[in-house]
Parts: sequence; C-alpha cells; structure tokens
Amino acid sequence: PAGRKPLIAGNWKMNLNHLEAIGLVQKLAFALPEKYYAKVDVAVIPPFTDIRSIQTMIDGDRLHMVHGAQDLSPHDSGAYTGDVSGAMLAKLGCTYVVIGHSERREIHGEDDALVNAKVQAAVKNGLTPILCVGEGLDVREAGDHVQHCTDQLRGALKKVTADQAASFVLAYEPVWAIGTGRVASAADAQEVCAALRQTLRELYGDDVAARVRVLYGGSVKSSNVAEIVAQGDVDGALVGGASLDADEFAKLCAIS
Ligand code: PEP
Repeated sequence: PAGRKPLIAGNWKMNLNHLEAIGLVQKLAFALPEKYYAKVDVAVIPPFTDIRSIQTMIDGDRLHMVHGAQDLSPHDSGAYTGDVSGAMLAKLGCTYVVIGHSERREIHGEDDALVNAKVQAAVKNGLTPILCVGEGLDVREAGDHVQHCTDQLRGALKKVTADQAASFVLAYEPVWAIGTGRVASAADAQEVCAALRQTLRELYGDDVAARVRVLYGGSVKSSNVAEIVAQGDVDGALVGGASLDADEFAKLCAIS
C-alpha cells in the first residue's frame, strides 16, 4: 500500500535439514517465476546451517528471492559460544535478519535493550532488520496492545538514526496468533501496524514513516493473506508454518 512493495518473508524457525532446505528453495524457484517479483519481494529465512547452500542457489541461479537469518549476536566476534555475528551473516549474503521475534523474547529472555543492541549490530553490518513486536494474550485482553507494541518499537530504535530506520522492516506479530491458527482480524493487524507507523512518524518524520514496510505475522496462509495485506498500513507478511510448504508459500507470495 501507498507505493510500498509488499514483502513476504518465510521464517522457517528450527525446521528443515540441509537437504530439505535445498528442496524447498528449488520448488519455490519453479513455482514462482520471475514475473511475480514485479509485485512482491520474497525472502526465505532458514536456520543458520542452511544459509550457505541457500546463498549458493540464489546467487548461482540468479533467483529473485533473497535470504536472511533468524537472529544475530550483538557482538562482532569473541568468546560467545554458539552465537553468530552480523559480519558472518553479511558474508553469507544475507539481506535481512529477524530481530526480537517473540520466541527469542520468551524462550531466551531477550529484552528491549538486547533487541536494541542487535538492531545496531545489524545496521553496522549492512543487514536490514525485520524487527518484531507483539503482545501476549493478557496484554491484548487488557486493551494495552497498542501501547505495548509502540513501547517495544521505541525501545528497539534507541540511538537509531532516521537514515538507518528508513530501510528497516517492522513486523507486528501478536503472540497469541503465532503458530496457533488464530489469525488476527485484518482490522486488528491494521490498528497496530498504523500505530507503529505513527510512532515512526513521531520519531523520524513523514518520509521515514512512509518508506518503512510494516508486516503482519501470525498464522498467515494463502487463504487469509490477501485480506490482511489489503490494509493500508500492512505491507506484507512474516510467515512461519505456511512457509515450510513450497506450494502453499508460493500461493501466498502470488498475492497481487
Ligand atoms: C512467525 O514465527 O513469525 C509466525 C508468524 O509463525 P506462524 O505463521 O506459524 O504463526
């Protein structure tokens, strides 16, 4: 909407071994011929262990989809066993990196300060954050969801300049809708995505607010994506479960 090209990003989470990952991208390459990319940008976000091979396929076969990672360390290098740095991801040709996913916030206790540090590490390494915010069911039922999400956004954007923020992607992912089959209504998605854009306007002005793509995520499928992405402030989708099936994900990407 409003001149922003929709982005559909498939977050595979901790799924698909190496062989399965290659198979999925091959199928997607055939299912999504070049003409689709005039209307939509498509990204796949595999586990770290699959990225090198996916990069080779995308570059070698000049596929139009891009790839990203699901997380990064806030540090450049050093004694951080098990972590992967932004510099490493940049070398693997990653365009995007998901930051602040609710599963990282919940399972790994990531707070706004750490999310902010990761955002800065992404910027430093030329990676585009897909910055996730979202409320749990208790917050939604208390009616505090807009405040909760805009607070998370402000926390994540500390010390981020307007120039940097202009290329970011935001994702509104209500926790109660992730992997539950319970999709937010299009109006619910629009309400929070519009509030996130308004926060960008307050922080950085109209130009940045007009440029940044704000995605919705939470049980998006080919059957509900069109209605959600038709909302004025929703510029695409972050897709979990439905991104693991090539036919379903291709259908979902062929939205407009
Ligand atoms: C996600 O993990 O970002 C997500 C939206 O998952 P699902 O589509 O499975 O709800």
